[in-house]
Amino acid sequence: MAKDHATWATKALFFEGRSWPAARVVGRRELYGQPSSGAASDLEPISIAFVETSGLGRSWKATEALGFWRSFGEIDPKNDAAIADFVRRHGDPESLLSPTVAVHTGEWKQPLSLCKTIAEAWIKPDANGISHCKRNLPLMVHGLVDRHVEKNVLAHTQPIFDPEFGIRLKPDKLAGFMVLSAVTMLFEKTPLRRCTHCGDWMSFSRSTAKTCSVACRNAVSRQSKRTGTDR
Ligand SMILES: [Zn+2]
Repeated sequence: MAKDHATWATKALFFEGRSWPAARVVGRRELYGQPSSGAASDLEPISIAFVETSGLGRSWKATEALGFWRSFGEIDPKNDAAIADFVRRHGDPESLLSPTVAVHTGEWKQPLSLCKTIAEAWIKPDANGISHCKRNLPLMVHGLVDRHVEKNVLAHTQPIFDPEFGIRLKPDKLAGFMVLSAVTMLFEKTPLRRCTHCGDWMSFSRSTAKTCSVACRNAVSRQSKRTGTDR
């Protein structure tokens, strides 16, 4: 069912991803980047995590913008459990991870800070758990979108033809899919809530919808059958 507030942009996104249920953080390293000025504070190292996986992973497909970009923006880059949990459920933002290719979180910095900043346009959830996008978008958000999206995301997004829909936009990395989901939802002021099963932020077509995916809906119904509660 189409979301009544959705326009072409959120519905036109397309992404084929792979989550890695066996992903784990196997170590960390302090990384010094190129200092952006002569200030001593610009030589602070950042701690990056190394992520490995085994197994085949699980492929998934999105045919519209998804709200978990906001959950990505909430990850503390020092929290190994949160990093592993994200990769297990959604995949590696750079879309490079495989059993033969380990990855690091050094490249997470930019999409993570962009998602975190865009999320500031949404206010705290109301009594029904629904978080609304503010009417006036903070100037800061506009600045970030202008600076980064064109160069880092749109340049790596292909238009594709979908006979069932028409033209769709297909980013080449999970990070690009999350940033485009965030930006299109920002411009549409999409209300978001948390999935009652996995806790991810999600958009919804009915205000009674409580889960982000078929998998989460099935998990909740299995749970309620076991406990006899109706959720
Ligand atoms: Zn969920």
